[in-house]
Amino acid sequence: MTTQVLQLDNFQWITDSRQVIGNATNAPADQSVFFAIQGEHHDGHEFIGELYRKGIRHFVVERTALTPNRRADLLNYPDAQFVEVDSSLQTLQELAAAHRRLFRIPVVGITGSNGKTIVKEWLAQLLADDFAVVKSPKSYNSQLGVPLSVHELNDTHTLGIFEAGISRPHEMQALEAIIRPTIGIFTTIGTAHDEGFRTRKQKIAEKLRLFIHANTLIYCNDYAEIDEEANLLLKAVNADMRFITWSLTGKKAVYQVERQQDRLTLRGPATTVTLTLPFTDPASVDNLIHCLVTMLTIRAYDADTLQSRLNRLRPVSMRLELKEGINNCVLIDDSYNNDVVGLQLALRFLNQQSSRDKRVVILSDVLQSGQREADLYEQVARLLQANDIDQFIGIGPVLSHNRHFFASTSQFFATTDEFLTNFPINSLHDSDVLVKGARPFSFERIVNRLQRKVHGTVLEINLDALTHNLNYYRERVGADTKLMVMVKAFAYGSGSAEVAQLLQFHRVDYLAVAYADEGVSLRQNGIDLPIMVMNPAPETFATLVEFGLEPELYSMRLLREWSDFIDKNGQRSAENPYPFHLKVDTGMHRLGFLEDEIPAVVEYLKGYPQVRVATVFSHLVGADDAQFNAFSVHQYDTFLRATAVLEAGLGYKPIRHLLNSAGIVRFPDYRLDMVRLGIGLYGVESSQIEKDAVRSVGTLHTVISQIKTIPAGESVGYSRRGVLDHDARIATLAIGYADGFDRRLGNGVGSVWVNGTRCPTVGNICMDMTMINVTNASAAEGDDVIIFGNELRITELAQQIGTIPYEILTGVSERVKRVFYKEGN
Ligand SMILES: *Cc1c(COP(=O)(O)O)cnc(C)c1O
Repeated sequence: MTTQVLQLDNFQWITDSRQVIGNATNAPADQSVFFAIQGEHHDGHEFIGELYRKGIRHFVVERTALTPNRRADLLNYPDAQFVEVDSSLQTLQELAAAHRRLFRIPVVGITGSNGKTIVKEWLAQLLADDFAVVKSPKSYNSQLGVPLSVHELNDTHTLGIFEAGISRPHEMQALEAIIRPTIGIFTTIGTAHDEGFRTRKQKIAEKLRLFIHANTLIYCNDYAEIDEEANLLLKAVNADMRFITWSLTGKKAVYQVERQQDRLTLRGPATTVTLTLPFTDPASVDNLIHCLVTMLTIRAYDADTLQSRLNRLRPVSMRLELKEGINNCVLIDDSYNNDVVGLQLALRFLNQQSSRDKRVVILSDVLQSGQREADLYEQVARLLQANDIDQFIGIGPVLSHNRHFFASTSQFFATTDEFLTNFPINSLHDSDVLVKGARPFSFERIVNRLQRKVHGTVLEINLDALTHNLNYYRERVGADTKLMVMVKAFAYGSGSAEVAQLLQFHRVDYLAVAYADEGVSLRQNGIDLPIMVMNPAPETFATLVEFGLEPELYSMRLLREWSDFIDKNGQRSAENPYPFHLKVDTGMHRLGFLEDEIPAVVEYLKGYPQVRVATVFSHLVGADDAQFNAFSVHQYDTFLRATAVLEAGLGYKPIRHLLNSAGIVRFPDYRLDMVRLGIGLYGVESSQIEKDAVRSVGTLHTVISQIKTIPAGESVGYSRRGVLDHDARIATLAIGYADGFDRRLGNGVGSVWVNGTRCPTVGNICMDMTMINVTNASAAEGDDVIIFGNELRITELAQQIGTIPYEILTGVSERVKRVFYKEGN
């Protein structure tokens, strides 16, 4: 690599323009470098100008991305440095590999199908007393995440723990060079991500490449395929490698492991230890054994030390939750960990979801950073400043001691108790509040105080599942097709503002709502994407203009009223026309111009150059059902004819779109210039062709208010419909039809999920309550109950009562609180 590139090692690396907020980054702007990466959906090169204006002066750019126009544009930034390379990602990876070579410390590399992140987090917790650990933040284990993680390594660290995840052949080689582990852990092999690989063997072989230069490999010998491939492949390249194996089933292994309930005995070559496990579910036990065997490999720990470390272990929750707070606050609850990169990610989420005027951060001491205290807190202070935090509250002795780095308005408390006793909680209002603390500070107590108490029923929305679904449909339509996302009806019940903020963050092209007031609410929550309004009543025209909302026009009457309105308004001209969306009726016979009306539309529009057809669209009546395929084809043909007439008459080409979620899957060839994604985003693949491709997004929970045993012959609920033929344990739930639990699911038609058991409804569903039969379940008052989610899919509920998933989703009433969360980064 050139010296010009190598000097970038000391810089702050930026790969996402959204990391840069305001006029500064976390490091001074002149010490930051932006790697412009061309991805399938984003092209980093598009953000060079924006980043330059924010003060960034160093850029790594890709030769193939530099069109003549772009090259000319770069001349506008004479004092910036541009390093031209073939691939920015590869350069970043090579730089990270070079960075890794500067250090001679032990590095643990972890791969496998499950448990990577948990083993990494636990190992870091278990070894924190003896090492200054650097580790991947959250689950940063990709081609991009790994180099960014390893770049965190500095000379205060004495141990590195990094995870690597791959989904395709040939990906591990680059990650191996960057992590260069001395000790390897292969957790498990499962079926996840099998798509990219021909066989499981190929997948195992590819993953094992992470360890070709390691001196030690740790794995469970009960996975015969891992053992086989490790012996075949790794022994060949590195005959001296030590395999530290373990087995729970008596297979030949270095550590024989036995488990009885929460007692675990490890019989190794040097020692036998018996320990009490803090977690006993099978996955946790596997993860714990990996950690213990690794510890014993690194040092001769005795049983007492191991036990005391285990006792401190906390479950790893990667959830970061968005909750409704008291006094109109929005809470971001992130008590998962508190390293600097985690803080950076949480602040980024705060920016993404920000909806209030003021931003508050409540932060604890950062534990075990491996950084010099002064450097660390100076960096934290700079991060807060760069993210425009208005109010900072620091909790912990070390933060208090370093208060001079922070804005003078900041407040400090030595302990969480001191904060809870002395801080006037009600002084927080109308703010976005990030609560982020290391485990020992028990920040959940702060969250409890700040959170608006929710009544027993909650709809949890998994933002990572939403993102997964968005990416799935994006991949299906490809980079050349634009994406409009339907967020009408409260984003299908999921919560418009939060979903729209996520979509804006992921840069979809358009949003669509049914009514003007839905669009206004999005604007008031900071959404500046173009928004189509499908039912624009003339009384709302002024509102549309005021908030920059774009109407769908579907009839001559509406077209006239709108164009007259814009004409009188006088703000628009042929140079600056107001965009609108033209709806064509190709067979739904709901709203829209019929094909034979298009010539009249064209004629009419000639007199109104101050309005412009931004997009033209139609809607399939039966994309979700193969029996209507012929009709769908007919609709497509009609639409193409209509748009051809329109284009010829207008002299320009509006964006054309026809497909909804099911259409995207069933008719990929009809995607045209844009598609309209709806229910698929919210977790229902309505064509049922690719059922498992989308993840379920919403989980509707409630709680058991009361349980009692009722003798046979008695009846339960209104109108004596629920007559019992056996003695039964009946539980009353805090959900009724007014919450959206459809009354047709009563009298045993529907069931709910209680601690792993399906329990049928009994009697009629009431307005606010429902009775279920829990005779066969382990159930107690106060227990959580799932109405729908992963275990009980919305499609199944819909089938039970002869309706469609749309109705179930949008039926969850607004009085049910929405809680948004992220599982990973
Ligand atoms: C709601 C709606 C969609 C989205 O449909 P899904 O089946 O939810 O994907 C698309 N187009 C129009 C016109 C809509 O009203």
